[in-house]
Amino acid sequence: MTGTLVVVGLGPGDQRYLTADADDALRGAEAVYGYGPYLQRVPIHPGQVHYPSDNREEARRAAAAIRHAVRGANVAIVSGGDPGVFAMAAAVCEAIDTGPEEWRRLDVAFVPGITAMLAVAAGIGAPLGHDFCAISLSDNLKPWPLIEQRLDAAAGAGFVIALYNPVSRARPWQFRNAIERLGRHLPPTTPVIFGRAVGREDEQINVVTLDAADAANADMATLVIVGSRDTRVIARPGRHPLVYTPRAAAEVSA
Ligand code: SAH
Repeated sequence: MTGTLVVVGLGPGDQRYLTADADDALRGAEAVYGYGPYLQRVPIHPGQVHYPSDNREEARRAAAAIRHAVRGANVAIVSGGDPGVFAMAAAVCEAIDTGPEEWRRLDVAFVPGITAMLAVAAGIGAPLGHDFCAISLSDNLKPWPLIEQRLDAAAGAGFVIALYNPVSRARPWQFRNAIERLGRHLPPTTPVIFGRAVGREDEQINVVTLDAADAANADMATLVIVGSRDTRVIARPGRHPLVYTPRAAAEVSA
């Protein structure tokens, strides 16, 4: 007997960001696995059991949810934002890839959610209006020199860069190092957006220039978007500025 596993994106904030598809998937689950604070955003439906776990437990959480589904239950596993962006969808795939043969027969589905960079972008205009990329600054799962190499390549090639996991208590210096690195490729006036707790009550979105971008503006709930040479800021009287990257780009800059 085998059940189902659905990997569900909750979006960046409260219920308004939960898609109808994600809501359906959660209603149909007998068991819901996830990082504790994310699970708290999911109402417990009748007959449903929630299994919260710690932040760093992704591999173990994925394996536990799969085992539960293989035993015959309809199981959901949740991520904030989109489950495919630095989150549980890849952890589930890794577990299936390296796990027992019978896990490959499991009925598994993925429900997308609004990822943090899209919510931050929508809050300030259109910073991702042209080519962009996303980089996680966490060096828990990759060496820091690789991150530096990717920052150099991305900024050098003119991508707008969304930085996930910009800082944490365990990683105080990386953000400053990353900004310094990007400053080798970009003018000091390049717009940098700090979006904190987007989609929640205490949401904050601030725009600064690259030379003023400070780790003190960011925490684990912050998504940072670093503009390209083309990214522009429109000042508006009595309203917050609009930041956008035009749809057309001219030429490769030196
Ligand atoms: N799967 C998530 C990302 C997980 S990585 C997604 O698609 O959004 C965790 C990082 O995402 C955080 O360190 C932060 O950079 C970003 N993030 C998640 N939720 C956020 C929110 N509501 N506001 C701003 N950034 C957020």
